[in-house]
Amino acid sequence: MGIIILSGRYNNAMGNISRNPKIQKLLTFDRQLVDLSGAMTVLSWDQEVNMPKEGVELRANQLATLAGILHEHQVNPKIGELLTDIEGELASDAVELSDVERGYIRQIRRDFDQATKLPQVFVEDLALATSKGQQAWQQARSENSFSLFTPHLERIVALTKSKAEYLGYVDSPYDALLDQFEPGLTESELLRIFNSLREATVKILEKLQASNVTVNEDILHGEFPVATQEMFARELVGWLGYNLDAGRQDLSAHPFTISFGGGRDVRITTRVKHDQIDYAMGSTIHETGHAVYEQQVQAEFDRSSLAGGVSLGIHESQSRYFENQIGRSLPFWRFWYPKLQSYFSDQLPTDGLMDYYRAINKVTPSLIRTGADEVTYNLHIILRFEIERALIKGEVQVADLPDLWRAKMKEYLGVEPETDKDGVLQDVHWSHGTFGYFPTYTLGNLYAAQFAQKIREQLDVDALLEAGEFDAIRLWLNENIHQWGKVYYPVELVQRVTGESLNPDYFISYIKQKYGEMYGVEF
Ligand code: ZN
Repeated sequence: MGIIILSGRYNNAMGNISRNPKIQKLLTFDRQLVDLSGAMTVLSWDQEVNMPKEGVELRANQLATLAGILHEHQVNPKIGELLTDIEGELASDAVELSDVERGYIRQIRRDFDQATKLPQVFVEDLALATSKGQQAWQQARSENSFSLFTPHLERIVALTKSKAEYLGYVDSPYDALLDQFEPGLTESELLRIFNSLREATVKILEKLQASNVTVNEDILHGEFPVATQEMFARELVGWLGYNLDAGRQDLSAHPFTISFGGGRDVRITTRVKHDQIDYAMGSTIHETGHAVYEQQVQAEFDRSSLAGGVSLGIHESQSRYFENQIGRSLPFWRFWYPKLQSYFSDQLPTDGLMDYYRAINKVTPSLIRTGADEVTYNLHIILRFEIERALIKGEVQVADLPDLWRAKMKEYLGVEPETDKDGVLQDVHWSHGTFGYFPTYTLGNLYAAQFAQKIREQLDVDALLEAGEFDAIRLWLNENIHQWGKVYYPVELVQRVTGESLNPDYFISYIKQKYGEMYGVEF
């Protein structure tokens, strides 16, 4: 494959996505799809951020109507004909195309197949089952009664197995599910990576827990005025390179990043806790990582299916690189702690840097995934992967899940939930029918550590951070990862950027070094 070297934030050196007339024709169809779904996304953003609660039903109908129109456009047979035509030419070497053109055709094929492979009746069945499933999950959770959810989850699992058959796979049905979120990755590859990560993490955790060092979190708690936290967050996101002329920041119940068909409008939301300082900080830096990725995709890809991040795993690698590798590092806080302290001079001591750094990195095995630290987080994910994989294979039954969950928690993390609410019922994902999604969170951590190592070979990251300098790091990410949008699949991107395939050893070394130092443990 040819390599096109680009530099700069908004590089237009490439001209259009393609001058090939057939690809330009595809682009005409594509632009309509991207515009329509972008308009739907504005409605969804408004629903989360602005809409009064009585507007729910009106909005649901607007979105359903638009979804129907969008689907009609997505399955337009003319798109299929054009694709077959171009793919035929490619196969016979009749045309020579760039990486961008090839990536574009592959992306359109992927979206077209996903829209056309599932029969309409099946899509409606699944939508009904998951809508009932979500209600049942909520009820089961509030009443702490898994059995209320059991028949619904059984139905959703059965439909998910059919979905895998419709989508198609080579080796295992789970491959088809995983491919929806992480194109090109397989179950067997994931199993190899996760097994070695799990074994290493369990050993590291045992050693850290045997350490005499205790970490006190008091510094994070107190009264931190929300308006001041927002002012600080604004300064921080600007420093991280988030362009507020192409974005905005609002409050919402669950923080998220959203974009509307290109990098010139990418918005983030934050949730602020008045009595805990690190919560809003961590989630804001995380969402900024997602947002900067989207903003730095080259402007040439706006209004096309190449805009946006290539996969959930790569997306999460950017948010976690920002949140953890940067935002939980000591050099970063050497620069930022004095600033934070000046915003909150009544709450934070001037000499609190090390206490603050240790508090935001405290390692404690816990029951809930979303609040887990960097070391234990992946064990929560591996457990979910193992269970959902066994469900799809038919090796376990839905009714077995609560016990299986407790057994695995005990084995990997040494803690066991007393209630299913704090166990198998804690996450919404399975009630949505999203199987194959959980692994992308851990993939994000692993990609992030592998990229971070590469960045360190080329830049003195610690010195830059201590000097309050982030632009060189952001430009590196743009150059190597962001600008490409969806051109390269995760496997290709990791190989291009780091010269090898995904390797969990980088993450393992990273936590050994960071937490070994913090807890006085030799590995
Ligand atoms: Zn994220």
